[in-house]
Amino acid sequence: MGRGAAVSVSQNFSFRFCCESESCSIACCHGHAIALNPYEVLRIKEHLGISSEELEARLLSHYDRGLPLLMLPRDPCPFLKGRRCSIYSARPLACRLFPFGMLCDGKLKTVFMPCEGVGRGRSFTLAEYIEEQGAGEYLAMWKRWVSFVEAVERAELGSMRQVFLKILLYNFDFTPKGAARETAEEQFLARLRLAEGLLSSESE
Ligand code: SF4
Ligand code: SF4
Repeated sequence: MGRGAAVSVSQNFSFRFCCESESCSIACCHGHAIALNPYEVLRIKEHLGISSEELEARLLSHYDRGLPLLMLPRDPCPFLKGRRCSIYSARPLACRLFPFGMLCDGKLKTVFMPCEGVGRGRSFTLAEYIEEQGAGEYLAMWKRWVSFVEAVERAELGSMRQVFLKILLYNFDFTPKGAARETAEEQFLARLRLAEGLLSSESE
């Protein structure tokens, strides 16, 4: 299989892999910006111990069909220090899954994007690799996020609700009533429920 070809795979897909970060192209840390969901943003914020405003200044911010998005630039990534990830334990799902990627193409698909580490080291199935990378909870939060994004695309949000949505989803220094929770997962899910309430509220 040629390097760079993306092939759709199942959970039983097996491959050999050993990350060669000392000598490879570090393709996983370069390329297009990655959309982060609020759970990923919160995990990075907690890891760095900085304010939401400070974190947002290191990311890219824009609106896509009314949905506020924060993106991780990768040209280069602000968290790449030398050849190392400085937020490794809080790295987002896309970084955990590499050399796999997730596509929403009508339904969720996992694609394989071979890099220099493929074909060496331990043998994994995709399911084992997800566990090894601590990506299970990230994947569950990502699927929940995708269903929310689909609801936003169906709603017609005016500019006021777009701004409220951004505060609700990404400003973790502000705790809206009903969103105070212990863990990042609980806080993300509570904020999504509040945001869904905002989607179904009367338009401004
Ligand atoms: S995942 Fe692949 S591209 Fe990224 S550091 Fe490891 S070997 Fe290199
Ligand atoms: S967060 Fe870490 S693993 Fe992900 S692109 Fe940046 S440096 Fe690479």
